[in-house]
Amino acid sequence: MQARHGFERLDASFDHILQHIRTKGQVSDAALAHLAAFDDTRVRKALAIIDRDKITLFRSASGRTFALVQGTEREDVVYLVMRHFCTCPDQGGPVHRHQEQLVCKHEIAYALSEACGRPAPRNLSDVAFSDLLLHHLLTEIAPKGRMPDE
Ligand SMILES: [Zn+2]
Repeated sequence: MQARHGFERLDASFDHILQHIRTKGQVSDAALAHLAAFDDTRVRKALAIIDRDKITLFRSASGRTFALVQGTEREDVVYLVMRHFCTCPDQGGPVHRHQEQLVCKHEIAYALSEACGRPAPRNLSDVAFSDLLLHHLLTEIAPKGRMPDE
C-alpha cells in the first residue's frame, strides 16, 4: 500500500514539526514547508479542517485535550479525536489496529490545533472535561463497540 509508506514518513517527523509549532505558537511558513514536503493529502485536508473552523478543541485545567471534528462530507457527523484515536471510519479498520503509526486527517488536525492553539481551546475544569469526554465516549463509541486503547 503506497499510502502506508507515506504515513510512516509522516509519523517519523510529525512530532518534531509539532514541537516547532508549539515553540512558535503558530503554524509558521517553515512548518508549512515541512508539512508540504510530506506531500500528503491528509495534511492539507487537516489544515482545511482548521481553516474552516470544523474543529473544537477542549482542554482541561490539568492540560488534557480532546477535539470534536465536524465531518467534511457529512456536517451532521462529529468525530471524537484524541492522540492515536479517532472515531472516524478511517481509524476503525484492521489496518489501524496493526499499524499504530497510521493517522487520519482528523488526528492530524487535532495535533496541529493542539500545538498552535488555533482555534483557541475551550478551557474546562477537570470535572467538566471528564464529564464531556465520557458523554461523547458513551454516545459515539460505546454503541459501536470500540473504546480507546482497546
Ligand atoms: Zn479520523
